[in-house]
Amino acid sequence: MDVTDLTRRLIGFDTINPPGQEAEAMAFCADLLRGGGFDVEIIAQGPDRSNLIATKGTGAGQALGFTGHLDTVPLGGSAWRYPPHDGLIEDGKLYGRGSTDMKGGVAAFLCAALDAPVPPGGIAILLTAGEETGSDGARAMVAAGPLPPIGALIVAEPTANRAVPGHKGALWLRFVFHGVTAHGSAPEAGVNAIELAMAALAQIKMVDLGSAHPVMGAPSLNIGTISGGLNTNSVPDRCEVTLDLRSVPGVVHDELVAKIEACLPAGAELSRIIDLPAVWTAPNVPWLAAITALSALEAGQPSDPMAMSYFTDASIFTPALDGVPTVILGPGEPGLAHKTDEYVALSRLEEAVRIYRAALGQWEG
Ligand SMILES: [Zn+2]
Repeated sequence: MDVTDLTRRLIGFDTINPPGQEAEAMAFCADLLRGGGFDVEIIAQGPDRSNLIATKGTGAGQALGFTGHLDTVPLGGSAWRYPPHDGLIEDGKLYGRGSTDMKGGVAAFLCAALDAPVPPGGIAILLTAGEETGSDGARAMVAAGPLPPIGALIVAEPTANRAVPGHKGALWLRFVFHGVTAHGSAPEAGVNAIELAMAALAQIKMVDLGSAHPVMGAPSLNIGTISGGLNTNSVPDRCEVTLDLRSVPGVVHDELVAKIEACLPAGAELSRIIDLPAVWTAPNVPWLAAITALSALEAGQPSDPMAMSYFTDASIFTPALDGVPTVILGPGEPGLAHKTDEYVALSRLEEAVRIYRAALGQWEG
């Protein structure tokens, strides 16, 4: 199995999300894995969409797990120099939507898993749909039933093959404030929903979001959108606000939501748009230290811990697997994710296969 060919095949499936339509690409991967002796389970997720769990040699002990998503973001407004689904190669770079984020990563672990001897505890592969819209596929998989027994998880999102121990969490909230409308010349006759929002936001800005993390830094809060009012001479009876909170390990989102809810006036509504906890494995956990050493050896990447700025399906899978050691490590270039003329370096693809194969070789179940 050639990793470049497989990446090109996966890029050839248009899985731009929305709408996603990952089912055909998922079926292709299912056939490949079945041909390699894996047991494959497809978990449907609406029309033309599905997720996949593949296992080989599991049943005793704990498998080494790999995960990746098959959906991609839209192409964006700028014209592409390289057709986004053709997988053209130039100067050692393979171009296409999803090359970096993250069909290259998926192709690399599929190649390693299909070629390597099965380690004690086995291999488990989790392929998801709908990651780019907030890990919908991963959530559907966890809801569908228990995941296979996995002892450590490799998330093949783009890190240029650096071993990255985690990322911040994301908690996006929407509030709707309700007031009572009145003529703008007699505001005392109404209840101003924008003023309710202003008062609540002033309090929310004072909420303690938790202590800074030594690698990730401080948690953050951004008021992203606010809208309310229909015309200047009326008291607005509705105001809607969205917040983007980025949390660090140790912050429990439910507790944060409770603190924020306490700042809201009676009758205000709160809903969660995205709720993905932070992911972090202590860099001195022996398995992570070993993967970090492999990354340094094969990819020449530094060994000091860093955190990615994006979030991943690990926010769903790692807690569902009782917080197993997790690393984000994939061949894509993190700076190219979601960009026009996204590419993955062929050398990074080969490195990733070597790192994943070595990780399987070291795995003791
Ligand atoms: Zn991704």
